[in-house]
Amino acid sequence: MAEVILRQVEKVYPNGFKAVHGIDLTIHEGEFMVFVGPSGCAKSTTLRMIAGLEDISDGQIMIGNKCVNNLPPKDRGISMVFQNYALYPHMSVYENMAFGLKQQKINKREIERRISDAAETLEITHLLASKPGEMSGGQRQRVALGRAMVRKPDVFLFDEPLSNLDAKLRVSTRISIAQLHHDLKAEGQNATMIYVTHDQVEAMTLGDRICVLDQGNIMQVDTPMNLYHSP
Ligand code: ADP
Ligand code: ADP
Repeated sequence: MAEVILRQVEKVYPNGFKAVHGIDLTIHEGEFMVFVGPSGCAKSTTLRMIAGLEDISDGQIMIGNKCVNNLPPKDRGISMVFQNYALYPHMSVYENMAFGLKQQKINKREIERRISDAAETLEITHLLASKPGEMSGGQRQRVALGRAMVRKPDVFLFDEPLSNLDAKLRVSTRISIAQLHHDLKAEGQNATMIYVTHDQVEAMTLGDRICVLDQGNIMQVDTPMNLYHSP
């Protein structure tokens, strides 16, 4: 459970290109924030800086009252879901979900409990012994969601998680993500969600608030309703 604060965050890539221009943003604990904007507006760069997958050039990122500028991804209390699922192909679904937990030295019974709970929520129990290569894109993305979920992160980060899915799976998986946010809240795990997309419908249906980016600047931050009605 954590608030995420960006203070004057800048990104200059090694080639000298300034991708992010000193942005300020507070994402509240439990909030579902969507970053939206055209390709190249720096949605992914911003998310990856929050994740710790990309260095920040200037400014400060706080997660849960702690400056994380110098913390590696594993110490930030985050889990990330990627467009390409990023599952280990040689491991079963169960092993994919267990992998990070084993590294954290969580005991076996607790690992089994978390995986069976997540699998039930995401309706992937029947897939636990399967390998990613045997599954549809929608199933793989549910597994990736499950893997993020079992870590019980304070913050979930999503980088275009639906972009590789066909229209029907996109809708059902989007509903799973909204349901996950809702269920975690109901269980008292007030997880913060930060979600990157170029898709207006995803932004409008998922976001508590939407942050509109353009060329590395924040243009607007507001609720879907207010954005929809703004001139
Ligand atoms: P988005 O996710 O909104 O499509 P990105 O965050 O991927 O945008 O990219 C933002 C800008 O930074 C783009 O202009 C992109 O070309 C540039 N960029 C991304 N990665 C690099 C890099 N490694 N080196 C230089 N420029 C980059
Ligand atoms: P390890 O031997 O690496 O510690 P485990 O003992 O946790 O792994 O699990 C052994 C094997 O049993 C793994 O291949 C895992 O996929 C499988 N397995 C364990 N629990 C379940 C479960 N609830 N459902 C399906 N497969 C499971």
